Amino acid sequence: MKYPRLAAVLTAASLVATMAACGSAEKTVDQEASGGDNAGALVGITMPTRSSERWIADGDNLKKQLEGLGYQVDLQYAEDNIPTQTQQLDNQITKGAKLLIIASIDGTAITTQLENAKANNIPVIAYDRLIRNSPNVDYYATFDNFKVGVQQATSLLTGLKVLNADGSDAGAKGPLNVELFAGSPDDNNATFFFNGAMSVLQPYIDSKTIVVKSGQTTFEKVATLRWDPATAQKRMENVLTSTYKGGTKVDGVLSPYDGISIGILSALKSNGYGTGAQPYPVVTGQDAEVASVKSIVAGEQYSTIYKDTRQLAKVTGEMADAVLKGQTPTTNNNKDYNNGVKVVPAQLLESIIVDKANYQAQLVDTGYYTADQLK
Ligand code: BGC
Repeated sequence: MKYPRLAAVLTAASLVATMAACGSAEKTVDQEASGGDNAGALVGITMPTRSSERWIADGDNLKKQLEGLGYQVDLQYAEDNIPTQTQQLDNQITKGAKLLIIASIDGTAITTQLENAKANNIPVIAYDRLIRNSPNVDYYATFDNFKVGVQQATSLLTGLKVLNADGSDAGAKGPLNVELFAGSPDDNNATFFFNGAMSVLQPYIDSKTIVVKSGQTTFEKVATLRWDPATAQKRMENVLTSTYKGGTKVDGVLSPYDGISIGILSALKSNGYGTGAQPYPVVTGQDAEVASVKSIVAGEQYSTIYKDTRQLAKVTGEMADAVLKGQTPTTNNNKDYNNGVKVVPAQLLESIIVDKANYQAQLVDTGYYTADQLK
C-alpha cells in the first residue's frame, strides 16, 4: 500500500515541477486570455521569395491567422537576396516586433540580427527552414524533411517500376539511368531531403539496379544554389550533352523541388524527350505547385510531395501565440534539428506523395486547389 501513495506524491511533485518549468503557471487566467502583455503586439514575418507559390501562400496564411488572433503583422519577402532579408529583420526589430517568424534564405547569414533580437527579448521561430549556427532560435516549425526525401526516392523507384506503391518489389532490375539533383546548399532542408532520398537509393546504386551515369552523386556536386530552375536546367543540359550521347537514355531524375523539375523537364524537352517514341523519364518534385500538378496531370512530371502549408501556418501561428502568452508551445521533436549550436525544439508535420493517381483526392477534394486552378 505504501508504493501507490509514494507514486502519487512523486507524480504530484513532478507535476508541480513541470508547471513551474512551463512558466505559464505564473500567469493569471485573465492575462492569458488577453494575450498577456503582448496582446495586439507586432509580429514580424520574413519569407524568402515570391518566386515560388508556396511562400506566398505561407505568408498570407500566417498573416491572416495572426491577425485573427489580434496581433499586428509585418510580412516581408526578400526575393532571395540575403542583404534584403537582414535589412527587413533589422527594420522589424526597430519597429518593436515582439516575435519574429523567419523562413531564411541562407540559414547561417542572420546571426547578427538574431543577437539583436535576443538583446531585445524577442523570441524567434524558424519557419520551414532551420536557422543555423545561432543559439538565438527558440522554436522550429516544419515538415519531416528527412521523410520528404525518403518519399521522393520511393516515388522515383515506384515510377521506375522497381517498387510497388506498398514498398514491395515490382520487378525492374535495371540497370536504370538516374540523375540526381539537390536543393540549395545554404538551406538546411536541402541536406535533409538529399540524405533522406539517398537512404533509399543507395542500396539500389550499390546493387547496380540504378546507375548514376554522370558520376555526380555527392551533395556538393548535385546541389542547386537558391533552388534556381535555370541553374538546374543548365546542369541537366550539361549532363545530357556530356553523358547521354549515342542513344543512351535517362530513365529517372531525382528532383527536390517543383521549380527545379520544370527546369529539368525543359532541358529534357530540348534534347528530344517528351515524345511518344522517347517519353520523359520519371521526374520527382516537391510542393505540389500548380504548374507542376498540371504537368503531372499531362503525364510529364511523375510526382511531387504535397506539404499542406495551411497546416504549417496554423501550427506556427499557434506556436507564436503560445510564446507571446508566456506559455510553452507544443513540439513533437526535440532531437533531430541541431542547428550547430543547439537542438531546436521542433514541430514536424507529415507530407504526402502525390502523382496522377491521387492528385484529385489529395489536392482537389481537400480544397488545397480548386479543379479550375488545375485546368
Ligand atoms: C522548402 C521546400 C521548397 C524549397 C524551395 C525548402 O526549404 O522546404 O518546400 O521546395 O525550399 O523553395
